[in-house]
Amino acid sequence: MPEQSPKAYEPGKIESKWYEFWLEQGYFTPKIDHQKKPFVVIMPPPNVTGKLHLGHALTDTLEDIMVRWHRMKGEPALWLPGSDHAGIATQVIVEQQLAGQGLSKNDIGRERFSEMAWEWAKKSRENISYQHRMLGASCDWTRDCFTLDEGPSRAVRTVFVHLYDKGLIYRGERIINWCPRCQTAISDLEVDHKDIEGHLYYIRYPLAEQEGFVTVATTRPETFFGDTAVAVNPEDKRYRSMVGKEVILPVINKKIPIIADAAVDPSFGTGALKITPAHDPTDFEVAQRHNLLLVNVMNADATMNEEAGPYASLERFACRDRLLADLRDKGLLEKMEPYRQSIGHCNRCRTMIEPRVSLQWFVHTKPLAESAIKAVKDGSITIIPEHFTKVYFDWMENIRDWCISRQLWWGHRIPVWYCQGCDGLTVSVDTPLACEHCGSNQIVQDPDVLDTWFSSALWTHSTLGWPVDTEDLRYFYPTSVMETGYDILFFWVARMIMLGLEDTGRVPFHTVYLHGLIRDENGEKMSKLRGNVIDPVEAISEYGIDALRFALTTGSSPGNDINLGKGRLESSRNFVNKLWNASRFIFQSMDAEVVKGQALETTEAGRPQCIEDRWIKSRLNRLIDDVGKLMGSFQFGEAEQQIYEFVWSEFCDWYIEIAKIRLRNDDLMPSPLPYLVSTLEKSMCLLHPFMPYITEELWHRLKQCLPGKSQMPASIMIAQYPVADKKSIDAEAERTMEAVIEIIRSIRNTRAQHKIKSNRWIEAQVYADELLPDIASQAKFIETLARVRPLDILSRVERRPEEKETLVLVLKEAEVVIPLAGMVDRLAEKQRLIKEREVTQARISQVNIRIKDAAFLDKAPPHIVEKEREKLHILEDKLGRLESELSQLG
Ligand SMILES: [Zn+2]
Ligand SMILES: [Zn+2]
Repeated sequence: MPEQSPKAYEPGKIESKWYEFWLEQGYFTPKIDHQKKPFVVIMPPPNVTGKLHLGHALTDTLEDIMVRWHRMKGEPALWLPGSDHAGIATQVIVEQQLAGQGLSKNDIGRERFSEMAWEWAKKSRENISYQHRMLGASCDWTRDCFTLDEGPSRAVRTVFVHLYDKGLIYRGERIINWCPRCQTAISDLEVDHKDIEGHLYYIRYPLAEQEGFVTVATTRPETFFGDTAVAVNPEDKRYRSMVGKEVILPVINKKIPIIADAAVDPSFGTGALKITPAHDPTDFEVAQRHNLLLVNVMNADATMNEEAGPYASLERFACRDRLLADLRDKGLLEKMEPYRQSIGHCNRCRTMIEPRVSLQWFVHTKPLAESAIKAVKDGSITIIPEHFTKVYFDWMENIRDWCISRQLWWGHRIPVWYCQGCDGLTVSVDTPLACEHCGSNQIVQDPDVLDTWFSSALWTHSTLGWPVDTEDLRYFYPTSVMETGYDILFFWVARMIMLGLEDTGRVPFHTVYLHGLIRDENGEKMSKLRGNVIDPVEAISEYGIDALRFALTTGSSPGNDINLGKGRLESSRNFVNKLWNASRFIFQSMDAEVVKGQALETTEAGRPQCIEDRWIKSRLNRLIDDVGKLMGSFQFGEAEQQIYEFVWSEFCDWYIEIAKIRLRNDDLMPSPLPYLVSTLEKSMCLLHPFMPYITEELWHRLKQCLPGKSQMPASIMIAQYPVADKKSIDAEAERTMEAVIEIIRSIRNTRAQHKIKSNRWIEAQVYADELLPDIASQAKFIETLARVRPLDILSRVERRPEEKETLVLVLKEAEVVIPLAGMVDRLAEKQRLIKEREVTQARISQVNIRIKDAAFLDKAPPHIVEKEREKLHILEDKLGRLESELSQLG
């Protein structure tokens, strides 16, 4: 006797048990089988600084859906997990830990600092892995990778050396984004731009050889110590005579020339610009054209350096205030105007970026971008949703060189050694013992590390063993799908495409699937400030993992944001409970059947005897077919929605309710159990990728109920994903059951409208023609489910004018006549029919307009046009019947 299912589904108890079971069975580790094409997803590696948030939950759910689906289709499915050392972010955390003890990183030195960061990373990785497990992620832990592992690190050095040798990595002085807090260069992508209310300051620069001034307008007066020229537009008549003369920088009394450059906009400020090439990208370019000096006026922490003379060591904004006061005293500050401008901030620590000239390492990206553009253009890579393709091209076609060096201690150290003897560079994968130019052993490694995204750009192949030609690399590369948020298309996806192609000659993946952001139920961004953040850990403990996964993905579509609130979570939990209760009923019925000693088959061959069995089988196979197509086109949310509707409505609300009646009445044989069981089994298989836990639990309970007879695999995870049996599609049975359901629904609605007590039986006659015998075969169900007795199912030709007062429901395939017996008055009934006639007439004219529209007829496929004609026919038929009912009412 199988154990009884508990009344309520308790996710907490069930979830932990199954994850352990799957792990023990080794289901997450694919077997390499050269006869089969594998399905491969490399997980976007979460930062080791990360705590589980809904974004991870969404990523995990979507990837798990894909991987479980492909695994059930019999493909060797690899989902490779990993984590990212997250350069700046981790360094910031360790520095904060140190600051808590009153220490700085320089106090403890690079080695000890690195040890602390490793300790942090280790703890954090355990936590991350626990979080993935919590979400049911069926990823292969035996292949878990960390960006700083030996393999991926060697890949990083190999790529660096290769690109350097090819001339695609170079070291140069360029204006970069400098974060004074993190004290490192950061890439353009790591800068957030914010609009700030500031000022435009008009400062007078006295002319050197004569009386008078040139007034320049600037938003950054404190950088003026680094001015090396004043520039005007060569066409600007106001300044033409001054070009070639000199001005004196006030306060520090330095002479600088007035130059003419076409890049100057005469309409901005006074038309004269101060040129500070070491602190502004545009000025840097002007300086290149005019051979101007680069004067850096700040220290790494954005305090002023010795170039600022008396202002040295002041913080940049303190310097600004004091300088402005001094200029005002001297009468050199002409005026200030409010000015709004967009200013870059470090996206890690929110500090205002200081653009400054700096000697850094860069990747010359243009040649790499060309092949990456081609791969998307020629269809080797498909981006879903499609509209991101244009965004991708725009970015790639205008790509700028990528600054890859970071002044950090945590990360992949740049594999370059400087010789103190000959000044030569040795660039090498392995640590060299001597300078490759002069043989000196006086060589020092570059102190900087690489941008974190440099290692993640290699993630699709470095995790599979590259540069070593491993079996994994040969079998699993190129991977199938790269699934990630659209917000890191450039940071990550674009760079993976560039470097995947460069390193392996092949695309890193065939499909890019971009998901949207999660917002609250009103579509607002979730933020701590708004107080609308949903913590996935709390959501899981309240609703269960399956309900969270389902709420995150049902009805969603690629690239679109998802609105998640309590309502969605609750309705997902209700669905889980509905499934549980329906299954409990089936299991209990099976026990009874076994007791009666009746044979129980789970696979039914041939066409079923009863219409309702034919119907559920037909609907199920239609669903299987649709779901297969939707999954294949990455419409997971829509697939889920359709499974949900089938299970909730057709299976639970209708088929199971009908089956209950059959099971209660011995005379209504054959038993519906084979269809109950097979529909449940197939529905659970369809649902498994979305809701792995409850489906696994129910699978095992079902297995227990089928002692000795079952061919069911040991886990639903390795069961075959259902394949549609098109022969079972039965339009006739669907038409009948649709009519039966409409009859029951309309009687139920009438009962509700007239507030008839649920235990009261009412009388009804159903009139039909073509479907009469089939509807009649369902009489028992109509009777029970609509609570009508006596129920007569008659031919329309037998219809006589009613003697008593009646209510007539005109349906698609039938009329239902309910004697009123004082339930409603005649007038109200007449009004109701008139109203319904109006609605029907309106719909007829709509359809009429449509099928007479030349454009529609031209464009629509024939079966759609046919459908519209059929609709019109049905509506006209209904209208005719409404007319005759009305004429009978008089
Ligand atoms: Zn910063
Ligand atoms: Zn040397």
